[in-house]
Amino acid sequence: MAHEMSVAEGMARAILKAAQREQAVKVAEISLEVGQLTFLNAEQVIFWLKELLRNSVAQEAEIVHKEIPARVRCSQCGYEGPLTAAEDPLLHLNLPVFACPGCQKGSLEILEGRDCIVRSIEILTEEDVSSPDNSQQK
Ligand SMILES: [Zn+2]
Repeated sequence: MAHEMSVAEGMARAILKAAQREQAVKVAEISLEVGQLTFLNAEQVIFWLKELLRNSVAQEAEIVHKEIPARVRCSQCGYEGPLTAAEDPLLHLNLPVFACPGCQKGSLEILEGRDCIVRSIEILTEEDVSSPDNSQQK
């Protein structure tokens, strides 16, 4: 099955757990960060997330996402910056080869772009949604 779906499942679990911990009555917004090197389709992740959050406190949440570009560091030449994957049509379906754009042979450490995470969620609690008249009751 789609990798996006299993990623969305983990996210949905984390979101609902956090919402429960904060006693949220509603999740208003969910911010995601999708790293370039995850090779995930962000639209698909969001699609599944919406499906999985249906009938939960987060079902009406607005889901926003930001793509995090890859940043790598080379252990040989000290190159630090974006990854440039060679566009080889024959290798199109494979993962790009992680060669250092500087020296072509150093091994790369991935600094950013490997994760697909829930960066933050915005929740509403009982207090937020109750009218001013009964806000004193607790
Ligand atoms: Zn290098």
